[in-house]
Amino acid sequence: MSVDLLAIAAHRDDAELTCGGTLARAARAGHRVGILDLTQGESGTRGSAELRAAEAEQAARALGVGVRLNAGLPDAHLRNDEPSRERLVQLLRETRPRVVILPFPVGRHPDHRIAAELGRDACYLAGLAKYAARPGVEPHRPFKVLYALAYREDPVKPSFVVDISDSFDAKMAAIHCYASQFEGAKAAGEIFPTGQDLYELIRVQSAHYGSLIRKAYGEPYFTHETVAVDDVLSLGVSSL
Ligand SMILES: [Zn+2]
Repeated sequence: MSVDLLAIAAHRDDAELTCGGTLARAARAGHRVGILDLTQGESGTRGSAELRAAEAEQAARALGVGVRLNAGLPDAHLRNDEPSRERLVQLLRETRPRVVILPFPVGRHPDHRIAAELGRDACYLAGLAKYAARPGVEPHRPFKVLYALAYREDPVKPSFVVDISDSFDAKMAAIHCYASQFEGAKAAGEIFPTGQDLYELIRVQSAHYGSLIRKAYGEPYFTHETVAVDDVLSLGVSSL
């Protein structure tokens, strides 16, 4: 069940919307990729938790994501409390990711904001040997935490953008698996309604992020720490 890259998201479909292209690209490159949804979607306006579970399984296959877990925390009532942190710590110790993608710490839906804080705290605590210790389960602290910045309008520049031009089709195929959520929808997650079709909105936004690195489609990320460069001559993205 161990993975190299794990996206932690509040709701089924969040990971597809914000980092699906990155997950699909990593899977194609041979990395072991997983998604951990924190809730089951029982408070969603559309569909049901059962339907969303089936859609999420289909979407994972579309992305090539081999592991999809659900923490079973309360939808729309997510809290960064002790039982929730312990639940995540156990799942992080079981999946042992090197890199974790979290939602951006500011969000339209309060669950997104809480998921960012809860996820980061759990990543740290999972490395403490005496925290919620269980026999036979080793502590594990992810090396890197990335925040998915897609659709946010905060005055924050992406720390980097992943080129998803070749995996954009897989991202959209995965998003189309959530018919109960998105068919006829004009907004979703962090995406504000403009009156346009939701799928077209996702394409336009992805094209905007791609344009920042002179590519067709991209997904933006923020990291608190600075990104290191070994060779300035290998830097991409033309300045002029
Ligand atoms: Zn969400």
